[in-house]
Amino acid sequence: MSKKALLNVDYTVDFVADNGKLTCGLPGQQIEQAIVNITRKFISANDFVVFAIDKHKENDLYHPEANLFPVHNVEGTSGRNLYGSLQQLYEQNKQAENVYYMDKTRYSAFAGTDLEIKLREREIDELHIVGVCTDICVLHTAIEAYNKGFKIAIYKDAVASFNQAGHEWALGHFTNTLGAKVTVVSE
Ligand code: ZN
Repeated sequence: MSKKALLNVDYTVDFVADNGKLTCGLPGQQIEQAIVNITRKFISANDFVVFAIDKHKENDLYHPEANLFPVHNVEGTSGRNLYGSLQQLYEQNKQAENVYYMDKTRYSAFAGTDLEIKLREREIDELHIVGVCTDICVLHTAIEAYNKGFKIAIYKDAVASFNQAGHEWALGHFTNTLGAKVTVVSE
């Protein structure tokens, strides 16, 4: 039987709030309830839930994003908090055995982290991904999951980007190139 995990990617204040440092704005804010609903569902079902959250330093000269994006998700700042009611849901469940919060420093949640080890030791072979940005961190995480042989599901009503064209393109790429199931939270 297939064992699944939910990967909750970068749904933080800096990526979603009006005053966020690298915000998706309204499209990001509109997926809040869908993200909260599916996260609650996975937690209640005792499926593994991972919060994979970008962590940067203020002046990191060696980081490849330094010349690409405004500084965001700086360690110790409120911009790194989960956005809206997702923060509360996480706080209520963070002691649960099936909830895992991890820092990441690159687009892919697998890059330089122990994510794969956590998934393999639980014999999880199916990754369900929500969060932002569809065409950056969600995409790069999905590509690496594909290369590692995981089955992938993406919830199109629970991913968003500041780049609408990139968002649309990535949704097609998930289906046509990564063989992902692109679905909606309510299904
Ligand atoms: Zn980043």
